[in-house]
Amino acid sequence: MKIYIAYTGGTIGMVPSDQGLIPDAAFADHLTQHLNESDELAHDFVIASYPTLIDSSNATPKDWQTIGRDIESKWHDFDAFIVLHGTDTMAYTSAALSFMFANSEKPIIVTGSQVPMYKVRTDAMINVMGAISACEELNGEKNRSGVFLFFAGRLIEGDRAHKAHTSDWQAFSSPNCPERGLLGIDWRWRSTDVVKQPMTIQIPDMDEGAVTILPVFPGVKVAHWQGLLSENVKGAVLLSYGAGNAPDKDPALLALLKAATDRGVVIVNVSQCGAGSVAEGAYAAGSALVKAGVISGKDMTYEAVFAKLHFLIGSGLTHQEILRRF
Ligand code: ASP
Repeated sequence: MKIYIAYTGGTIGMVPSDQGLIPDAAFADHLTQHLNESDELAHDFVIASYPTLIDSSNATPKDWQTIGRDIESKWHDFDAFIVLHGTDTMAYTSAALSFMFANSEKPIIVTGSQVPMYKVRTDAMINVMGAISACEELNGEKNRSGVFLFFAGRLIEGDRAHKAHTSDWQAFSSPNCPERGLLGIDWRWRSTDVVKQPMTIQIPDMDEGAVTILPVFPGVKVAHWQGLLSENVKGAVLLSYGAGNAPDKDPALLALLKAATDRGVVIVNVSQCGAGSVAEGAYAAGSALVKAGVISGKDMTYEAVFAKLHFLIGSGLTHQEILRRF
């Protein structure tokens, strides 16, 4: 099997510096050496290091575009793709890739680690080897393949992952969707009887300023959101309470949302709760949002909604079409 591994930055390949950990340009060579040491791995690996390696806290939607275009340019040359990425924004990137490579017929696995590979007590190789094992299992299985985030034995659907812990080996959760596979000594797979649609690849030109996040918190006022809903914003993730509620006793706040949706901003309601779904209109406080034109993100993670808004807006779809796709 031919596997393309892209190192984009992140802890997995970081080394110490005066300012703390930074990505190491020599990491691709170290990883090549590690993989070559194993006789069991009879694959052709190409390991590329991106020219600008980043801490994923610096990632922008343009970086998703770069990764997407890189994979697209190598699509016919490889059987599987592994993206090595920082954990901080890994869930956003895996979601973005899952929209760009919808119903992917080849495995695209995003992974990284909590502790750098140069340390003795590292999870780097466990995660890389798990990602390779997932590629082996899914290779040629057009119907079972797709975009996934692999971490600490869990193969999570790319648009379902959430960074849930700062320091546990289990850094990611899959709040509203069972993992596709769990890797212990052997794989345990969740069977899917979903008939896949034909695969599509679409890597839009991302506009970094097009999407914002509106946090709901006790005492939130128009002044808090006004700057966030600036004129060039076309989409917003509203982080609501519970089953999709926000204060409904402040007419100015609701008027601000209504004015934004009236001018074509797509505002999607997602709960601050770690899991569960938005139930539109269950409470009067939620109905007010519906009246203001806010739509439900149901049980999506805020990372996936943010990436989906960017993807759809970047694809140049009309306001109506974006609403329909949600
Ligand atoms: N700050 C690092 C990054 O996101 C954290 C990590 O990789 O785990 O690149």
